[in-house]
Amino acid sequence: MLERAQRILKDVFGYDSFRGRQGAIIERVASGGDALVLMPTGGGKSLCFQVPALLREGLAVVVSPLIALMDDQVATLDELGVAAAALNSTLSNDEQREIAERIRRGEIKMLYLAPERLVQPRMLSFLQSLEIALFAIDEAHCVSQWGHDFRPEYLQLGQLAELFPNVPRIALTATADMRTREEIVQRLHLQDAERFLSSFDRPNIFYRIVPKEQPRKQLLSFLAARKGDAGIVYCLSRKKVEEVAAFLSDQGFPALPYHAGLPSDLRAFNQKRFLNEEGLIMVATIAFGMGIDKPNVRFVAHLDLPKSLEAYYQETGRAGRDGLPADAWMAYGLQDVIFLKQMLNNSEGDERHKRVEQHKLDAMLALCEETRCRRQSLLAYFDEDMPQPCGHCDNCMDGVQTWDATEPARQALSAIYRTGQRYGVGHLVDVLLGRDNDKMRTVGHQHLTVFGIGKAFAEGEWRSMFRQLVARGLVDVDLEGFGGLRLADSCRPLLKGEVSLQLRRDLKPQQSAKASSSAASQLVRGEERGQWEALRALRRKLAEEHGVPPYVIFPDATLLEMLRSTPSTLAEMAQVSGVGARKLERYGEAFLAVLGAADDAPRAVVDLRHELVSLARAGMTPVQIAAQLNCSEKNVYSLLAEAIGRQQLSLEQALDVPEVLLGEIQDAFLDGEGELPPVAAISEQFTGRVELGILHCVRAALQAEFEA
Ligand code: ADP
Ligand code: ZN
Repeated sequence: MLERAQRILKDVFGYDSFRGRQGAIIERVASGGDALVLMPTGGGKSLCFQVPALLREGLAVVVSPLIALMDDQVATLDELGVAAAALNSTLSNDEQREIAERIRRGEIKMLYLAPERLVQPRMLSFLQSLEIALFAIDEAHCVSQWGHDFRPEYLQLGQLAELFPNVPRIALTATADMRTREEIVQRLHLQDAERFLSSFDRPNIFYRIVPKEQPRKQLLSFLAARKGDAGIVYCLSRKKVEEVAAFLSDQGFPALPYHAGLPSDLRAFNQKRFLNEEGLIMVATIAFGMGIDKPNVRFVAHLDLPKSLEAYYQETGRAGRDGLPADAWMAYGLQDVIFLKQMLNNSEGDERHKRVEQHKLDAMLALCEETRCRRQSLLAYFDEDMPQPCGHCDNCMDGVQTWDATEPARQALSAIYRTGQRYGVGHLVDVLLGRDNDKMRTVGHQHLTVFGIGKAFAEGEWRSMFRQLVARGLVDVDLEGFGGLRLADSCRPLLKGEVSLQLRRDLKPQQSAKASSSAASQLVRGEERGQWEALRALRRKLAEEHGVPPYVIFPDATLLEMLRSTPSTLAEMAQVSGVGARKLERYGEAFLAVLGAADDAPRAVVDLRHELVSLARAGMTPVQIAAQLNCSEKNVYSLLAEAIGRQQLSLEQALDVPEVLLGEIQDAFLDGEGELPPVAAISEQFTGRVELGILHCVRAALQAEFEA
């Protein structure tokens, strides 16, 4: 069985080996067992049902929540030569009837369906009349009422267990937490399913979180090294989405907005452009996300803080599905914390729910202020133990300096207390720095004992201090929405001097910007650029012809391997990971031609020289040679001069110049003493009478004579 699976993997998908637990999962499902697969985004879930579908008799039915996702997968399978179809509401009745006919004739191997369509009684009885290879339930976490993606229609999928007792079912999700997992098992009746739990680490993603100072400027310097890369920039509000998109476009980074307030056709249009074009940036609210299967998203940048680590993990996880280096970057500041806390306080819902949300936000804040490895901390939240620091996050790479902030923290707390626990950070910092302004005088705070006690630190340092105090829950934000700070109960031991406080020392902005270029931008080295662009151009052209996104033709990883392994025959091309039989047949030659073009370049020049000499010897004039070889006269003259210099041609063979004129030119060169003058020194007297190229040839001949 595994051997057959291996062959399909190579022949159809073009891959050499299974990743992680793919092999075991495929074996389980292909032999008729149920499976629950938890694998991170980009882990390779699709193969887990696509390979068994090809191993088993009958039609494989894939349940998927979004039309965009289905279309993408059907297009991908199509390119691989696998007969697949999607039944959804965008099709006309006739089209649907035709697909049904083809299914009945056994011409379709994989059928993608939305859950609500699958559970229609007519559809169920249609499927019962067929041989079914398997049911795959993608994005299975949609069955969970606790997640953001709850789809009531998913609840009805439980009945498949009773209606098709002998058909294996495989449920897949990238959502990690235990509670969702149990809900999937229960609601989809997967008690007998074998569970395949992968690590949720995304090793190719580089995590960086920086304190927000001038967010747009910081974003630009993050993007500077990533020109031409596709990415997502998340913002919290619609207004900000539009502003940032306009700003980036202005700055030469093509960007599109996406949020729930845009007309749905514009949203769909922008999404399609993001998928189909290369190097576009999508500036979006969290409304943009599920259904984005684009594998070569090179970065996800957050300009606002997500509400929880679950959200952060999911959003950053959209980067680097293809396994190539990618970046997760975020700028966060005190305002984010204040804003989210206020939102939470004002939200509907019972106290228990609010407490859960508060707890989630605290975990997110803890990651921001983390002084150890970000990845270890992130995975630990999902109950995954990572024994060593990762070496691939900002904290691991730059190291984090901490400092004993006990005394200044107490000063900050006193400032809050003495001013009556209702002022925002701006005023508190003014008090600490002893700034004597109008507001100060109106409220009389210049008389307080804390006035001016913090002059040892700069404004930015105090802001960083307040941010960290709030993030650690030592200070609360008021509920009224003015951003006033008050003391939390938990700050008492610190105030009393019973405990000390270590805080993160924020990097200077230049430092954090400089260090933020990780490996992603170095995907292609300088000298490879030209050919890389040529490969991408061919891919774009083919994608347009076939009406699919470029990555459906070949993913970046495959292009990169072509670039590095430079196959020169179809057999070598077949060895490249991602080149299956069908794609080899369709595209192999075209990509070989592009790869060969660069090698041909030096050879072409050699051939050209050779031909030029022959033509000249045969008596052709430079003008005729230029026409024959399809190059400029100037080029022909300079190649002729070279050939004369190498004594491959005589002057008479190369040129057709009257004897007298030739003598005059030679005299001009030989007029002075010693060294042969450069062409420029004598060219003036021949202006309008003799081609510059002729002068070069004559000089080359004289030079060759001198040296002989
Ligand atoms: P997921 O659905 O888990 O996010 P996908 O199924 O989209 O992941 O796979 C992510 C990428 O990895 C795709 O480009 C896919 O072709 C590639 N991939 C999957 N399995 C393998 C494998 N065994 N070898 C090489 N590439 C693979
Ligand atoms: Zn790390």
